This record gives sequence, C-alpha cells and structure tokens, in this order.
Amino acid sequence: MEKIDVLLQKIWVLIMVFEIKKPPIELKVLLHRSVDSFAREAIIRSIELSFNIDFDISTLRLNIEDACNHRRGQYDAEKILNTALILIPNELFLIAIGYDIYVSNLNFVFGVALPNHGCIISTWRLRDRDREVYEMRILKTVRHELGHVFGLTHCNRYCVMRFANSLLELDMKPKDFCNKCKSRLARIGIVATS
Ligand SMILES: [Zn+2]
Ligand SMILES: [Zn+2]
Repeated sequence: MEKIDVLLQKIWVLIMVFEIKKPPIELKVLLHRSVDSFAREAIIRSIELSFNIDFDISTLRLNIEDACNHRRGQYDAEKILNTALILIPNELFLIAIGYDIYVSNLNFVFGVALPNHGCIISTWRLRDRDREVYEMRILKTVRHELGHVFGLTHCNRYCVMRFANSLLELDMKPKDFCNKCKSRLARIGIVATS
C-alpha cells in the first residue's frame, strides 16, 4: 500500500515537472520586402511588448503574385494565408505585407487570422505622417490578429479585440486586452504583458 502511495507521489511530481517545462509558444514572423523599415521595427516591438512568446523573424519568401487582384489593386489575404498554411503547417506565424489586402465581401482588411495557425497584417492603410499614430495602429493590429491566432474572438468590451472596420474605429479602440480576454490567453499560457 505504501509502495503505491510513493509511486503515485512520483507520478504527481513528474506531472508537475511536465507542466512547468511546457515549452514556450513560438511564433514565426515573416516580413515581406514591401514592409517599410519603420513598420518592421514597430511590428517586432509590438510583439515584444505584448506577449511572453518566443519568435523569430525572417523574410517572407512566398510568391504572393498569384494572390494579386490587378483589377482591385489589392492582394487576396485568404489566398496568401492558405499558401502559407501549406508551407508552414505546424507552426504559428504572422505575415506582414506592405500592400493593401482584402477578403471576399470586404473592401479591405487590416489583417486576417486563422485561429491556431497564423495571420496576415497589411501596413498599407495604417501609414500616417505622424509616426506615433502609425506605430499605435501597428501595435493594435498585431495584438488583435495574434489574439485571434491564440484563439480569441471579437470582443465588445473595452478591448483591442473589438472589430475595426475603418481607420477611425481602429484609432478609437483601446490598445489593451480586457481582463476577460487576458484570462483566456492566460489559460493557454500566454501573458499579455501590457
Ligand atoms: Zn478580428
Ligand atoms: Zn476583450
């Protein structure tokens, strides 16, 4: 009987160690050459500032020309995401491009995400002469789309997960996650750091 107790204790300790050693969440950041250098830095800072995750940065090698809709002068975001999904099926990713993107039924989007896989953001419409405004828009967009990647849905509270359909709405919404979204992230081991 005692032996079983000791065994159970050992198993319990092993489970605890396994829990503690859970590997950190890793993200691949893929920047297309069309993203300007200010935005590149802002994207990296945004991720660093927002989440306790590991990430590595590289150049997006994907040929996105197939996703170009010449009539609209925009890129089909879902096409790019689907191609990326085939090439990087097992890692979380964030793609950034400097061209305008759209999805069917919407004139444009700031970003699109496939929950638990990856997202794409466009810096095209976020640009502003005021660098602080540009950077804040990037921060909110990166947080919002990564929030989706980590499983969050749109949120009507005072929260960065609020849906924004225009620059005005994007500028008006807060940059932080609400407590409810923060605790949902915490459940999968992600700490929204600010
Ligand atoms: Zn959204
Ligand atoms: Zn929220």
